[in-house]
Amino acid sequence: MAHQFECEESDCEFLVRSSSNEEVIQFARAHLRDVHGGRVESGDIDGEIERSDTANGQYRANN
Ligand SMILES: [Zn+2]
Repeated sequence: MAHQFECEESDCEFLVRSSSNEEVIQFARAHLRDVHGGRVESGDIDGEIERSDTANGQYRANN
């Protein structure tokens, strides 16, 4: 299963995708803290993560 987090801040294109939910949360939390200076609960991040069971799911290219 793939997990993906897309930052919703305006003008921010941060996106992280991993097979590990914990890893996505970790990267998302670090991003929000370092880039946006925000303190976000992991539960909030968890709610924003999109999950996909298929390897052929549609994902935006990260470039
Ligand atoms: Zn961001």
